[in-house]
Parts: sequence; structure tokens; C-alpha cells
Amino acid sequence: MANGSVRVRFCPSPTGNPHVGLVRTALFNWAFARHTGGTFVFRIEDTDAARDSEESYEQLLDSLRWLGFTWDEGPEIGGPHAPYRQSQRMDTYKEIAGKLLEAGRAYHCYCTASELEERRDAARAAGRPSGYDGKCREVTSEQKERYEAEGRESIVRFRMPDETITFTDLVRGELTFTPENVPDYGIVRANGAPLYTLVNPVDDALMEITHVLRGEDLLSSTPRQIALYKALMELGIAKSVPQFGHLPYVMGEGNKKLSKRDPQSSLNLYRERGFLPEGLLNYLSLLGWSLSADKDIFTIEEMVAAFDIADVNPNPARFDLKKCEAINADHIRMLDVKEFTERCAPWLKAPFAPWAPEDFDETKWEAIAPHAQTRLRVLSEITENVDFLFLPEPVEDEASWTKAMKEGSDALLRTAREKLESADWTSPESLKEAVLAAGETHGLKLGKAQAPVRVAVTGRTVGLPLFESLEILGKEKTLARIDAALAKLAA
Ligand code: GLU
Ligand code: ZN
Repeated sequence: MANGSVRVRFCPSPTGNPHVGLVRTALFNWAFARHTGGTFVFRIEDTDAARDSEESYEQLLDSLRWLGFTWDEGPEIGGPHAPYRQSQRMDTYKEIAGKLLEAGRAYHCYCTASELEERRDAARAAGRPSGYDGKCREVTSEQKERYEAEGRESIVRFRMPDETITFTDLVRGELTFTPENVPDYGIVRANGAPLYTLVNPVDDALMEITHVLRGEDLLSSTPRQIALYKALMELGIAKSVPQFGHLPYVMGEGNKKLSKRDPQSSLNLYRERGFLPEGLLNYLSLLGWSLSADKDIFTIEEMVAAFDIADVNPNPARFDLKKCEAINADHIRMLDVKEFTERCAPWLKAPFAPWAPEDFDETKWEAIAPHAQTRLRVLSEITENVDFLFLPEPVEDEASWTKAMKEGSDALLRTAREKLESADWTSPESLKEAVLAAGETHGLKLGKAQAPVRVAVTGRTVGLPLFESLEILGKEKTLARIDAALAKLAA
């Protein structure tokens, strides 16, 4: 598809930290809009005053910006259908609910919660469909007066047509819903507050949305919305019914649906750990889509160029954190070194960095950065990989010490110190030769010989390439740290 008339929307409710499922929905909508040259509308569904907050709203905007999404219409930039926050569109919903009532497409329902429950239980017991039974569909004006005199409250219900609804889902193909499975449903609460069931399709209609791409959890609301759309078309409010595409579920641990409450699903967590937005988006795009069978790593531009909603796979997608990290690592490697050093900046200072700001050394950082770039999965790992350069003494990692410092480690360290003292400190090769030779003296292979040296100098058994690390730290400090380790071993 290639035309400028595609209009998609991303319409989250600001009810907490954004989660990865939401980001995937935003991504697919955005990529579809950019691929087709269409319009990406960003709308805030904040009609639930009890659950929405201004803080979540700010977070949503901030998250979208961090991910690099740009919207063509929406908060802060406006557009022909402004405002884009539903809390500012209440008059519109009230007016449209009024029109639906007037046209008989909706009606007042006076049933109380306990009456509804009683009838639902009875229907279940009799094996009949348990949705709303249409009791108030034909309430007379006398009944209405009586109900009101009794002090009953009423909600507004949409009258579903008694017909089968069939539509072709862009992801799942043809779907059919029979009337008994789609009962009349509430659109305005007793207190006059309009519900999602009304405001979402009303805004999609008014904003002339052509494609609704959203999670499979919303599939059951689609036949209702199609019926509402048709009513809005009869009233001259909607132009046409959009096409729908329902994105597959995302499964987490134990093959359960990834839930908003899963720590793994919080976008903020990925930001804090130092995922690159492009790495995270690359991974999230694979939850239901792929560029090609043999290419997992790609740029967002490549995705946009190839993305078609028809290629989305309806089967549940499994969220795999390890794979997400591996893909992010690839994107870290794809950065040019300068870009990499800049992106690491937040993790090289407080509150993440344990060293004093004046002990940070730009030259050493630039020297070590290329070695770190090929090894990180997430940017936050940079801190502990380079702390040995900027702390006055290496961190004390007891587990590493115990693992590396065996019988005879002191003798090995003494020999290594001697050989390192006379090595050529402008070449990591020469430092390697020194440790190799020390190992040979004590009948140890390089791997075994370098472990105590590494722990003495960096505090840990794992880290960046050792001989480059020693060279960058410098001769004086390296030898002093070996001396300190020897003293500790002697104590
Ligand atoms: N505000 C709804 C949500 O966040 C939007 C659903 C839709 O895309 O229709 O679940
Ligand atoms: Zn009723």
C-alpha cells in the first residue's frame, strides 16, 4: 500500500509506566504510517479520571520522544482535529451520545447492578448467553417515570443490531461475530461520564482514522465498534468504517501473557539499564513481524521501508529478554565510537559512577571505549567495566578474589610483577608476553596465569581485555595494585 491517505492512531491511556506491549503497538502504527506516507495521530485517552494522572501523561510523551517517534497530530503540536486529549473533548461525546439516543440507536438502561447479576446467573444456569438481555430496549415513558420516581439511575446503552458482523482483520483474516455474543453495551455511565466504548470509536471517526492497529486483547470490542461506526455514519458523523488489525499477544515467562505488572514489561527499566531505543525497537518489531528469515538485526529505517501490516503473524509472540539484550548488543556495536562514548555519558557520572568526578580521565576513557563497545549488552554495564581506571583502588569483589587467588598465586604474582616491570608498556602484546612467561615459570597456562593479575588490578575475574586494560591504567598503578594484592595475600 502506498498512499498519503492512511491515518493511524496511537491512543494510550495514561495509567502508569508505559509497558513494552504498548511500545510495540506504537511502533507498528508508526512504522505503518511512515511506510505508507500516512499520518500518525497521537491521542491521549484520559477519560478515566480515577486512573489517569498528569505524571503518566508526561511520561508517555517523554517515552515516545525517547523512542524517537514523531507524531503528525497530537499533544503539543495540535492538528486539524484538536484537542487530542479526550479529557478536553467531553462536550463532543455528550453531544454524540445525545444524537444516538435521539435516533434510537442507544437507550437508557435502568437495571441495577444486582438485577443484572441475578439475570446473568439465571441465564448461565439455563445455558443461555449471559450478556445483557435487552430488558430496557423498549422501556415506555410511563415505566421511565416510574423508574425515575423510584430514584433509579440509568446508564446509556448502545443498541446492537440483530445481525451477524463479519470483517476482515488485517492480521487474522475474516472474523465473524453473531448477535448473541455481542450484546448491547454501556457507553455512558450513570454520572454522565462517557466510556471507552464510546469515546474511542467516536474519536477514530472524527479523526478519520483509516486503520486501527491494536492488541488482540481489544478484539472483542471490534464488532461493537463496527456497529457504532455504522450508526455514526447514518448520523453523518463518520465517513466510513476503518480497517482493523489485531496484533498478537506477547507471552512472558512460563508462556503466560506478559502483563503490565511484570517487571520485564516496564519500558523505564529498559531505559535505566541502558538499552538503545533503536535496539529495543528492533527487538520489539520481531514480536509478530520479521524483516526476513535470515536477518534479525536491522535499523528502524530498514523496518519502515519493509513494514506491511499484512505480514504480521497472528500467533502469540514470545518475549525473550536474552534475545532482546543480544540484539541491543549488536546495535551498540553498530554505533560509531564517538556516538558510543556520548551515549555512555550518563553512566560515567553520579549517581551511577562510584568514582569522584575529578578522578575521571577523558583520555583513558577514550582509549578503553572501543574495547568496551564490543562487549556491552546494555550501556549501564559500562560503569563496572571501567571503574578500575578511575577508582583509587579496585573494587573488592570477594567472590572474584576467592576464585582467582589460589595456592601459589602469590608466587605467580611476584613473577608477573617482575616481568611486567621490564616489559614494553607501549604494547599490550609485550604485557601479554610478560604474563605468559610468568605462567610458564609456574607451569600455568595463560588463562590461569592472568586471573590473579586481573583480580589484583581490576578487582574482578571478568572484564575487558586484560592487556589493553593494563596498558591504559599504566605501569605505575598496575604494579602498585599487584603489590597491594601481594600484601593482602601475605596478611
Ligand atoms: N486507550 C486504549 C488502551 O490503551 C486504546 C485501545 C485502542 O487502541 O482502541 O487500551
Ligand atoms: Zn436495563
